[in-house]
Amino acid sequence: MGYEAFYRRSVDEPESFWAEQARLIHWQTPPQQILDYSNPPFRRWFVGGTTNLCYNAVDRHLEARADQLALVAISTESGVTRELTYRDLYREVNTFAAVLVALGVEKGDRVVIYMPNIAEAVFAMLACARIGAIHSVVFGGFAAHNLALRMDDAKPKVLIAADAGMRGGKVIPYKPLVDAALEESQHAPPHVLLVDRGLDPQMTRMSGRDIDYTVLREQHAGAEVPVAWLESNEPSYLLYTSGTTGKPKGIQRDVGGYAVAMAMSIRYVFDIAPGQVMFSTSDVGWAVGHSYNVYGPLIGGATSLLYEGLPTRPDPGIWWQLCERYGVRTMFSSPTGIRVLKKQDPSWLKKYDLSTLKWLFLAGEPLDEPTAHWITDGLGVPVIDNYWQTETGWPAITLMPGLELKPVKFGSPGLPAPGYKMKVIDEASGEEATPGQKGVLVFEPPLPPGCLSTVWGDDQRYLSSYFSHFKPLLYSSLDWAIRDENGYTTILGRTDDVINVAGHRLGTREIEESVSTHPAVAEAAVIGVADELKGQVPVVFATLKQDVGGLQAGDAAQAMQQRVVDQLGGVAKPSRVYVVNALPKTRSGKLLRRSLQALAEHRDPGDLSTLDDPGALEEIRKALERGP
Ligand code: ATP
Ligand code: MG
Repeated sequence: MGYEAFYRRSVDEPESFWAEQARLIHWQTPPQQILDYSNPPFRRWFVGGTTNLCYNAVDRHLEARADQLALVAISTESGVTRELTYRDLYREVNTFAAVLVALGVEKGDRVVIYMPNIAEAVFAMLACARIGAIHSVVFGGFAAHNLALRMDDAKPKVLIAADAGMRGGKVIPYKPLVDAALEESQHAPPHVLLVDRGLDPQMTRMSGRDIDYTVLREQHAGAEVPVAWLESNEPSYLLYTSGTTGKPKGIQRDVGGYAVAMAMSIRYVFDIAPGQVMFSTSDVGWAVGHSYNVYGPLIGGATSLLYEGLPTRPDPGIWWQLCERYGVRTMFSSPTGIRVLKKQDPSWLKKYDLSTLKWLFLAGEPLDEPTAHWITDGLGVPVIDNYWQTETGWPAITLMPGLELKPVKFGSPGLPAPGYKMKVIDEASGEEATPGQKGVLVFEPPLPPGCLSTVWGDDQRYLSSYFSHFKPLLYSSLDWAIRDENGYTTILGRTDDVINVAGHRLGTREIEESVSTHPAVAEAAVIGVADELKGQVPVVFATLKQDVGGLQAGDAAQAMQQRVVDQLGGVAKPSRVYVVNALPKTRSGKLLRRSLQALAEHRDPGDLSTLDDPGALEEIRKALERGP
């Protein structure tokens, strides 16, 4: 079946469509009702069916593929690579589950996982899923305060942590952060389970509270823990959003709908069949890591590569070297990751045999056309931009090469994924925008399987964050978009990033895109800054590639302005261009435009807890004082 017919069925006959997809997973008891939409916008998929994420990701494959690699965890930081077959994974997960049970963890209890990108993080997640505990992975790069906030919200029974992570060759001890977070949190759990990688010899332990996983692992080696069969709509896990626009929301996922969305998308979107190899460079702490490092590939019987390290260490060819070594078919990364490589010599892209590599998926941020061309030409592999949110759990706008590859349109993530009824609407009138007209991206509920059930413990916030912007009931996370006559959607930025210059509304993305066409530019961020005359004016912050052949910053800035005038017209002309060494980003690699804007308007930059490199913001502050 081609894309159009598949998509049409998914929205015209959602119940029969999803009933069919539901056969991709194991149900202990089959669903009695495919969709219950009696309480909009809340919806329940596969009502009455019981299943388990861990069973589908691990146990189910033992018969056919026990000796196949399930997980390869590579750390170019510690130098350790671990290869686990499905049988190995089954053993590790059962042992981990037995340890959690011994610590008193029961179905419905929350477990916070604060770990680097190592195999134990995956064991811990699957162990929770096995016993029906609700995991909440907190990205290991977050500071104590972020961890404390998430514990206060999730109220975990156990915190699982590691002694340390590593980045760029440096050990980053986690335990002092864990101690500080436990001190700050109102809901510090009684137990901390520590995975000691031997990276931090100074690690301290509080007796009675901190427990070494190695000791318990030995005690429970060989244990088999029965699977908890959960009703499809019970919570499986919580994951907090990136916090780009403010206080992160605890996204709550279900069991059955998510399992089906994973099984369907790994096959038809990511084109991965059982036995094939998927490499996602994400951290398990993000939505991509949950879905396409852990649940998607494992439910699909594939081999999943997990990577701790930078894209440039030991050299900028490392990702492609891994693709060659493991015969990766589908790779998944972020535009930010590719822009890091873009600063390097492109010959690194040609050094390895990439004959198995079929697709490079990129998500998380707008993929500017120059970067898309650079990586497509460099690798000779189709690049598939895909748009989604922590909330959706899987791509909402993408191409589906596992079904049928529609033409790639640079600058656009493509077409609606199955089950997503989407529109672009005019903010003022609420009417559907015509092709080419800018507006807000909305989804018509009920949301498809896999998307959030609610915000943890706060149905009201679920309604007010996502469903209160438009009438009648529409879901929106307030992204600004444009759709062409063939249905390809381009994301122009967030609605609060829209710049209004003398009545003309411009997406930050459009100007960033234009600035980035300058060959010396590695990355650009555009913001609107208040202006007495025009309301707002665009201001550019840009980083340059490493080798720009002696080009001066001032000349580069002028050339960027000229490009925008030539391509978008005088109205979009940036009033100032600052050339800097780094741009402020969230830990998940998203540009923090709201902080840039606040600094440029002499306001408080707001909540910076998810900021990756405080140095970048400091440099911006100085650049603003100095002038462009
Ligand atoms: P918060 O909701 O807490 O402010 P966040 O929205 O950054 O944080 P995520 O769920 O990680 O948290 O990111 C989803 C957002 O990322 C989307 O709403 C969109 O703005 C952006 N995004 C993701 N993929 C793409 C893409 N392919 N093209 C353009 N933008 C994208
Ligand atoms: Mg968001």
